[in-house]
Amino acid sequence: MHTREDGQSILSSKTDAVDQSRDTARAFTLPLVGFTMRNFISDGHMFFTGYVLADDDQDFRMPLAGWDPYKGAEKCPDEDCDFDHEHRIVPEGQWAGPKHNKDLYKATKGMKVEVRITIPWSE
Ligand SMILES: [Zn+2]
Repeated sequence: MHTREDGQSILSSKTDAVDQSRDTARAFTLPLVGFTMRNFISDGHMFFTGYVLADDDQDFRMPLAGWDPYKGAEKCPDEDCDFDHEHRIVPEGQWAGPKHNKDLYKATKGMKVEVRITIPWSE
């Protein structure tokens, strides 16, 4: 989650892959206004609400069913890589998530969304 100076928020989901420039690849990005936490943590979930930003057409990168953020990704071939864990590299230009989908954006801009984030539980 990243909030800009103008109060607009960008909700995004990062993957464990990077691109050639070592930018973390994202599964999606969703520009919101009026982002509010609701029931901060309840039963292993965090709940938020917000409204899809009505005058944005660049940061709205929401996938349709079946989109694979790792499509075409390859295991990092660098044996001396600085990363402390094995990771994949996505094709150039794919780090920002799916392409802007005009039709999906038109259908959802200005609408209220509820976001539920499940917190991984380990004992
Ligand atoms: Zn690497």
